[in-house]
Amino acid sequence: MCLFCKIVNKEIPANIEMEDENFLAFHDINPKAPVHILVIPKQHVDSFNEVSAETMAGMTTFIQEVAEHVGIKESGYRLINNVGHNGGQEVKHLHWHVIGGAKLTFPHLTDADPKDFL
Ligand code: 5GP
Ligand code: ZN
Repeated sequence: MCLFCKIVNKEIPANIEMEDENFLAFHDINPKAPVHILVIPKQHVDSFNEVSAETMAGMTTFIQEVAEHVGIKESGYRLINNVGHNGGQEVKHLHWHVIGGAKLTFPHLTDADPKDFL
């Protein structure tokens, strides 16, 4: 069973912010901003590559509710979804990073030169 499935099953602890029948929102163990929450489907999905449009529709509403609940809806926030090796996905259970609570920077993402790929 993967790490986030263990959190869903309450086999390992997490600081849970919100939960419904299908989704769970909990605080990232290594926050990158004042608010850094992970939103996952309770049912295991490897990554965004495999998620159904139906599950994403439910997650969309749930993420909007989480943003409102933690008070960052109006001030703004960033959603990040890392997919696979190049995307930097470390935990192979679909998760959206919901990051905010301060003005965010847009960091340097790669040393590869985009012109090399034109
Ligand atoms: P990824 O790099 O896969 O997009 O993001 C994985 C995230 O999960 C990282 O931001 C990391 O800090 C977080 N994380 C890893 N292990 C745990 C854990 O056991 N508990 C919580 N709450 N977050 C975790
Ligand atoms: Zn899982």
